[in-house]
Amino acid sequence: MVRAELAARLNDREYTNWLKAGRCLLILKDGLLPFTDRHMRAFHGDLLNQSAVLRSPCRDSCKPRGNKLSGCKVCSEWQKAILRHHRQPDATVNWDNCFPPYWRTDHWEVAKAFMPRGQAKVKGADKCDAPALLNLINYCTYFSSVDPKLVREVIRCRNELMHSSEYRVTDDWMQHYWTALNHFVNQFRHVPEMATVGNKIDEMLTLNLSIYVSGLDQMDSGGLDDGLEVDFVSHKESGADVGQWEAELLEEMLQELLHAADEDTDSQTQDTERLLERFGYDGSFLLRDSSTVRGAYCLCVRKAPFVHTYRLLRSADGWCLQQDSTVRPPTFRTLEALIEGYRRAAVVGIAPLTDPLDKTRVRNSLGEEFLYMEMNNSSSSVY
Ligand SMILES: [Zn+2]
Repeated sequence: MVRAELAARLNDREYTNWLKAGRCLLILKDGLLPFTDRHMRAFHGDLLNQSAVLRSPCRDSCKPRGNKLSGCKVCSEWQKAILRHHRQPDATVNWDNCFPPYWRTDHWEVAKAFMPRGQAKVKGADKCDAPALLNLINYCTYFSSVDPKLVREVIRCRNELMHSSEYRVTDDWMQHYWTALNHFVNQFRHVPEMATVGNKIDEMLTLNLSIYVSGLDQMDSGGLDDGLEVDFVSHKESGADVGQWEAELLEEMLQELLHAADEDTDSQTQDTERLLERFGYDGSFLLRDSSTVRGAYCLCVRKAPFVHTYRLLRSADGWCLQQDSTVRPPTFRTLEALIEGYRRAAVVGIAPLTDPLDKTRVRNSLGEEFLYMEMNNSSSSVY
């Protein structure tokens, strides 16, 4: 059964396209990581050499509030230096990614100012994902050796991939993606760690995942003789790898959803719904940033055939769930308390919450459980 579901997915060419394209981003990230880390270290060293103010410690334990930072003299100087090296200083800079008192000692804390939202808890280059590195290269002028047009094209493809409906992309799309990756990777010919990236990407994109299916079928039918045993083992392992790839890609999607940008309201809402539809079950829920109100949250709960979204409102007394009713909803001191409250007691008009669909859950259980999930998702046709 499990294998049959995986086989069904791997027989869907456009789904395997999606999976392989996502895999390429991880290959790219591994190659880019040492380069961006070294480059940022050098950039950080240059900044420190140029300014005595930057070499002195933060005076006020400065902390961004939301996306704004009005820091001490030292942190303001760091802010100016970062903006001076930003390709789009007038665009939104995600100061809330950073802990300014570390700017003096940690080059990666500076790098995070050039990245998409959601980096605040990421400590160190090796914890970053592909879009974080790509955006750093795109926005920071210290990466002048890379043509920003080429990196932007890869970012654009990556965003299309992550928001593709039904987790599928066409062959034409793949061809374009391959070209974009090639052009981008060619910029790094002088970087030793990038030397094999182009080849690995080529291998991944030409890999035929449907060949695993024959092995999976044999396992299901139990029609094995001695001669097939070697094949059996290798297919089994490959199947497990593919399941792991799926889990990793999902983890990234989930991570992005939790910190989705404000401007893309519709696709963000759809992404949340798709994720819960496909990987959750009744009662699965996730908490995400509100796409329309910064600092507010939405609670999304799956109750087939729908994914219900509730806005969480903050008042002086704490948090409550916005409801279309005359009954005043209870207020909880913290978000955690609110969720616990609704998990414990069923409330009329609210879909019951059972399990959070969170990053840990994806990491720990989807790697295994993902294979058990339904491939034919009937609820997706409801919308
Ligand atoms: Zn400061």
